[in-house]
Amino acid sequence: MATDYDAPRKNEEDQSEESIEEIKARRHDKQSGKVDEDETEAAEAFELPGADLSHEQLAVEVKPKQDDEFTCMSCFLVHHRSQLANPKTMICRDCA
Ligand SMILES: [Zn+2]
Repeated sequence: MATDYDAPRKNEEDQSEESIEEIKARRHDKQSGKVDEDETEAAEAFELPGADLSHEQLAVEVKPKQDDEFTCMSCFLVHHRSQLANPKTMICRDCA
């Protein structure tokens, strides 16, 4: 593994002699480099703490079915009785 680090070192020394074009390119990149910094800051802002995920799990807590509710046999969602389209098939109005 250590021998791998020696190989690129030699290449860098060779390139340093004709690096004027590289420096010119780097100067040009500095102007657009500001955009990159903003992008990384935005990416950090998008990082959400793990606590948010556990909070969402609590919201999905299943409610016990009430007497005036039924489970649709098509979409398997619990609806109020008023949404029952057909008592025989137990399908809600959305699925009927
Ligand atoms: Zn349904």
